[in-house]
Amino acid sequence: MSFREYAFVASVGVLMKIAVIGTGYVGLVVGACLADLGNSVKCVDVNTEKIELLRSGKSPIFEPGLDELLERNIREGRISFTTSTAEAVKEAEIVFIAVGTPQSQNGKADLSHVKSAAEEIAKAMNGEKVIVNKSTVPVGTGSLVEEIIKKHYKGRFHVVSNPEFLREGSAINDFLKPDRIVIGSSNEEARKTMEELYRPLGAKMLFTSIESAELIKYGSNALLATKISFINEIARLCDRANADISEVATGIGLDKRIGPHFLRAGCGWGGSCFPKDVKALVFMGEEHGVELKIPRAADEANMEQKLEPVRKLKAKLSSLEGKRIALLGLSFKPNTDDMREAPSVEIANALRKEKAKIVAFDPVAMEEAGKKMPWLETAGSAYEALEGADAMILVTEWNEFKELDFERVKKVMNNPLVIDGRNIYSRKQLEESGFEYEGIGK
Ligand code: NAD
Repeated sequence: MSFREYAFVASVGVLMKIAVIGTGYVGLVVGACLADLGNSVKCVDVNTEKIELLRSGKSPIFEPGLDELLERNIREGRISFTTSTAEAVKEAEIVFIAVGTPQSQNGKADLSHVKSAAEEIAKAMNGEKVIVNKSTVPVGTGSLVEEIIKKHYKGRFHVVSNPEFLREGSAINDFLKPDRIVIGSSNEEARKTMEELYRPLGAKMLFTSIESAELIKYGSNALLATKISFINEIARLCDRANADISEVATGIGLDKRIGPHFLRAGCGWGGSCFPKDVKALVFMGEEHGVELKIPRAADEANMEQKLEPVRKLKAKLSSLEGKRIALLGLSFKPNTDDMREAPSVEIANALRKEKAKIVAFDPVAMEEAGKKMPWLETAGSAYEALEGADAMILVTEWNEFKELDFERVKKVMNNPLVIDGRNIYSRKQLEESGFEYEGIGK
């Protein structure tokens, strides 16, 4: 079936054949969701272990709801997995590139995976297809992908930029119910194909140029990260000025022009996106002769913020040498096992430098954390980590930590000191229960 016929058939409800190159947090969720909508999806990864695991019906990542989604679509034959890009591309009408775009040494986005994926796609091209960049890529990458494909393939094809806004921990819901779907394309047919693909979601679609779509993603992430860094700085001022950041943020957020979201003070942002995307945006600015002072400052403020709990702990205990510190939460945020740029790593390293004895617990991220910090001692539960502790630092606001039984905690700790890196506890309640409490800006 030709690309045009396919686009027509899709418009009357027949489903599409899709290849997803890169089966990570984004590629796997996108692939599983598109399969669940009825499309036929083949996911590709260079990591053979990942593909073998997926073939055996197991997800290589922790993401709520993903296991069930995979199980159903594998069973019903809508999703399959391969290490061969060629095999997946040859059968597909739409090819998603969802490989990683990590940070390189100087902050620039490393496009080596995108380039090699584009080259593999190019070599396998056997007809008119839409090549969709889902990875977060610097402005101009759409043209780069086009150039790479043109080197190997002389037929018609269309490159589209379709940045992804899902959040780990709520990725499936975010993908299926997005605030908006951004489709950057200069080709009407490709635009229509994407519109048909996403039509079942009933979401607002924004059609732009490829370059604008690429920048929308970086602009969004940098603005969200800036909002958090901003409120974290106000929280530091609250600490000194005897104000309460929760009250201050509530008051600020009630202004409709600002809104209440991303105004929670804490021990800094991390994860696979904000840190690298903010740095990549600053670098992109430099390449285009534009100094982006605000994202740069947001990043610098965040680096400092990650160590705020350690500063607070030192202020309370003076020397940390030999002190037993319970770290609750390791993943960069709740409901994920992702440890990329997690504040817990900075915190644990700083405590280690101070010769503290750290015992950590996380509901799902301990295996991933062990890869980054093989020296880290872990416990089987929050209470086990708190046994004999001279202080607890709450790093990640998992629900189970919100529900701790503080009477029990008080009994097992050696010294009832709580450093609440995410402001999830009530100072009043903890102080009434005999704890010393330190939040962020409270
Ligand atoms: P990831 O590291 O979890 O997954 C990337 C996968 O691509 C890996 O499994 C890797 O083995 C595979 N890969 C690399 N080169 C390949 C190739 N040539 N062929 C096939 N597979 C290849 O990354 P991720 O978190 O899924 O992110 C992917 C992209 O999406 C990034 O650009 C990221 O910035 C963006 N993004 C991520 C999120 C998120 O929350 N993780 C959200 C929105 C956008």
